[in-house]
Amino acid sequence: MTTYDHDLFVIGAGSGGVRAARIASGHGARVAIAEEHRVGGTCVIRGCVPKKLLVYGSHFAEDLVDARRFGWTLGDRGFDWPTLRDNVLAEVDRLNGIYTETLAGHDVHLYHTHAELLDAHTVRLHAAADGSVAEQTVTADKILIATGARPLVPDLPGAEYGITSNEVFHLDHLPRSLVIAGGGYIANEFAGIFHELGVKVTLVNRGDTILRQYDQALRDRLLTISMAKGIKFEFNCGFDRIEPTNSGVRVVVKDGDPIEADLLLWAIGRRPNIEHLGLEAAGVVLNDRHAVQVDAASRTNVDNIWAVGDVTDRVQLTPVAIREGQAFADSVFGDKPWTVDHGCIPSAVFSNPPIASVGLTEAEARNRHGTVKVFASDFRPMRNVLAGRNERSLYKLVVDAATDVVVGAHMIGPDAPEILQALAIAVKAKLTKAAFDETVALHPTMAEELVLMR
Ligand code: NDP
Repeated sequence: MTTYDHDLFVIGAGSGGVRAARIASGHGARVAIAEEHRVGGTCVIRGCVPKKLLVYGSHFAEDLVDARRFGWTLGDRGFDWPTLRDNVLAEVDRLNGIYTETLAGHDVHLYHTHAELLDAHTVRLHAAADGSVAEQTVTADKILIATGARPLVPDLPGAEYGITSNEVFHLDHLPRSLVIAGGGYIANEFAGIFHELGVKVTLVNRGDTILRQYDQALRDRLLTISMAKGIKFEFNCGFDRIEPTNSGVRVVVKDGDPIEADLLLWAIGRRPNIEHLGLEAAGVVLNDRHAVQVDAASRTNVDNIWAVGDVTDRVQLTPVAIREGQAFADSVFGDKPWTVDHGCIPSAVFSNPPIASVGLTEAEARNRHGTVKVFASDFRPMRNVLAGRNERSLYKLVVDAATDVVVGAHMIGPDAPEILQALAIAVKAKLTKAAFDETVALHPTMAEELVLMR
């Protein structure tokens, strides 16, 4: 019988890779992991976590204004970007340390360098720049690819003058003006953050809508509120080229006037990290979206190689990658086979205000179920009423008329993601609208609207 250096070699120490590595180790496997950047991956280092902290930090701009209506007298208000940035980055460092310790604590050997497959069982480890890893090859019985994705930068002249979400957390100073390319998650989240911090934000999208996959009513509401706050939107705008200027960039679009700004942020999607991994040498096949092709058990076409997370481009969300990593480790090393259900996954956009959603949009439900009933609550949260803030929340339940099952729930308003997590259990459990109606309201909350819609 062939003996290998490791039972499992994981490439990529992000959310999916770290979970798989430590669970496999817990099941008794001898595990190693390679990471060429920082342990923790996109979510912890340059994604969800620092972004959410910036959302909190930026929202004080409105909270401090509203505080006056609640009786507070405030002294001079001021905002210092380096303080927020450095505190956020220090928190990222802390989490990076915890993730690294977690690996060590679970006997997972970490190679802090780039790994490349030479064949289905052999991994070449490049010499690490900091000297911590010498050039070497190791062998493994099983391989897991968990290399994630990276921001897409378009192939057009001057594209390099823009930054991506990788760099945005490290800005020396705040720009006075910012063009954000794209109309998805990252575009709307950073539009909200930077607008609150006093930056003049213009969001430029190639299509005629934002957040295409979300329910139309929520998209319309976010657009209306964002415009009322002062964020500018340019739709149906193709990019031609980017030119540098003395103060920043000139974004030259195909139909329309060029837009000048101090900074350009590309937020036009993320591409799987499939390059320089030796996938071809190992015989691993890609799909038509240039992602690693896997089956329901996250197994590639090569018998001993699996892939989880964004590199497979199934659902680019951290909790999904974590589940895929857990399912892989339990199934392959723990003798407890299970697969991830990719249906009915809750999601949120941490825009201002945030959006949260689970299940089918109204349009999707009409296509799938024919007749649907839609219940909506369009209200001004009591906090906004007293603050004199004319921002309305919108909650929507989509119900299959034939069965009374709630097949979709959609919310925009303060704390919508916090509320929707619990609501997602009800939708996932296929509860009926009658079950919602039988539940007593918790008063006074925004969430009580969910059981009061008639
Ligand atoms: P999204 O997929 O959310 O949005 C991409 C946007 O860019 C869309 O408006 C799209 O337009 C546009 N676009 C796509 N390709 C091009 C192109 N070649 N030129 C110009 N415009 C283009 O991508 P993001 O970068 O915002 O986020 C990437 C992923 O990361 C998300 O899909 C999500 O899975 C994850 N993420 C999740 C977050 C969360 O859970 N809160 C937060 C941030 C990211 P069109 O609509 O026409 O396709």
